[in-house]
Amino acid sequence: MSEEQKSEQEKSTGKVPFVDYLVLDKTPYLQAHECESCGSRYFDRRNACAKCFEDTFRQVPISREGEVTSFSIVQMGPIPYVSAVVDCEGTSVKCTLMNVEATPESVNLGMKVKLMTYSMGEDSEGTEAIAFGFEPSET
Ligand SMILES: [Zn+2]
Repeated sequence: MSEEQKSEQEKSTGKVPFVDYLVLDKTPYLQAHECESCGSRYFDRRNACAKCFEDTFRQVPISREGEVTSFSIVQMGPIPYVSAVVDCEGTSVKCTLMNVEATPESVNLGMKVKLMTYSMGEDSEGTEAIAFGFEPSET
């Protein structure tokens, strides 16, 4: 996303994504750079693909639903939280699991989760920073 688009988004919604790959559409979603040559996906900006060294990428939306493939309970600060890797139809996303108790009993490998966003607070001009996490699916 270019700086210009970013400020447009900021103006229209008063919200900015905390990470570049979170797209704050009506239904927010994550977006990856996909290597046009081998299909590897990256969330950070790359000059070349780590697998095949090609340098052309396209933007692809990532599924909002996934499954927990690994997790750990992080005991840092006053409130423990769950750090997890979620497989979203083949794309691994590192995230924090939200709306779940941070105990090993509350989280399972293979647990179905879905993307959610939350506010990280506003700056002095009232622009809200939006972060993402995953939470257990209802189903
Ligand atoms: Zn590649």
